[in-house]
Amino acid sequence: MEIYNISDAKKFMNNKKTVFVTGVTGQDGSHMVDYLLKNTDYTIFGGARRLSIKNHENIKHLETNSRFQLINFDLSDAHSISKTIEQIKPDYFINLAAQTFVGSSWDFPTQTWECNTTGVIHILEAIRQHKPSCRFYNAGSSEEYGNVAYTPQDENHPAKPRSPYGASKSAARQLVKVYRESYNLYAIQGLLFNHEGTRRGEEFVTRKITKAVARIKQALINFKTFDAVELGNVNTKRDWSDAEDFVDGIWRMLNQEEYRADLKNLPTGRLLLPGEIAKTDQQGLVGKIREYVLSSNETHTIKEFVELAFKHAGINGGWHGQGTVEEFSLVAKDVEKYEAVSSVLVKINPKFYRPAEVDLLWGNSNLVRKDLQWSPKTSFEQLVEKMVKNDLSLLGLTV
Ligand code: NAP
Repeated sequence: MEIYNISDAKKFMNNKKTVFVTGVTGQDGSHMVDYLLKNTDYTIFGGARRLSIKNHENIKHLETNSRFQLINFDLSDAHSISKTIEQIKPDYFINLAAQTFVGSSWDFPTQTWECNTTGVIHILEAIRQHKPSCRFYNAGSSEEYGNVAYTPQDENHPAKPRSPYGASKSAARQLVKVYRESYNLYAIQGLLFNHEGTRRGEEFVTRKITKAVARIKQALINFKTFDAVELGNVNTKRDWSDAEDFVDGIWRMLNQEEYRADLKNLPTGRLLLPGEIAKTDQQGLVGKIREYVLSSNETHTIKEFVELAFKHAGINGGWHGQGTVEEFSLVAKDVEKYEAVSSVLVKINPKFYRPAEVDLLWGNSNLVRKDLQWSPKTSFEQLVEKMVKNDLSLLGLTV
């Protein structure tokens, strides 16, 4: 898909509202673009880096969509961010680009900070200068909670990050708040617990598991040997949802007056339309907008994810041992059925332990469910099943 320079953007603009989405080659950004194309008639610009080898897998289905254009964009370049917002003057700017892998944030702490925190200042400054009525969403994370003080975690939980990634998101939250309060910007940072799907990057544990399950299934049915998948701390608990449910929640956060009864009687006496906020209207609104938690309100161990993933591939296994010698292995009847030389499906490798673990994340999204009538549609088990089926089908397999 062609990536245009910002100077080309004008030729795609019309009288429709515009949304600029960053991180469109990633999971959330690509789902957000699909959601906006389906649910609005706006013109969508997607920010993407021009890499030597294209990674457009998640957006290749949008190749011929005239309402969506890719613009060369890098969070580390203040000048180009400013130029982008000055030229397009978007009605919404949704920042889903980041250094997203918690594990890598110890190896690349400076790059994580530059991208996830300094990059956000560049965007906020450009919005303040060139389009103060633009509505800005920045992607926050449950990793900001870190060493949790109580469970489940809601909007009032203090920030106690345990990784450079969590710290970078926590600092960005403070910046978004300062700009919102200092300049009356509709600028918010959602608090999103883990969300997954068929477009999840392969380094993330859920996708690492579902890809491995498909690979092992392929080996088993062909009576071939296979390597076990190696994981870190499988007792870690996370609150997992479907990324497609979350982009709807993000859009609701950016249009709160459409859902919240208490915002329908702002000083203008009318319901404000997205992107139409005059300065005085915006002052009345931004004092009342909220940042919300999105979560499933359930927590599950990585072990549970493993069990369901193999179950939905029709492979029967069980856990044995403890700590670093814990294993998930084929049950005896499956060893016989597949004539398996090795029965070990999953083993623990301390190499994947983190310098500081976040043992338990469990969200409480009751506020957004009440205020914005949002709720997740896909259950934990449906999510695992969907990811496994997708990875099986990529290898031409079914259950
Ligand atoms: P993802 O799949 O890893 O996508 C990240 C995107 O950011 C990619 O498109 C990547 O582009 C882009 N990017 C990275 N560095 C960039 C830079 N310097 N300039 C421009 N683009 C850059 O992540 P995701 O799961 O969609 O997450 C979206 C946002 O939600 C992130 O901010 C993440 O931290 C946050 N979040 C995610 C979760 C979750 O469970 N998924 C939970 C909480 C918060 P390339 O393709 O060029 O690398």
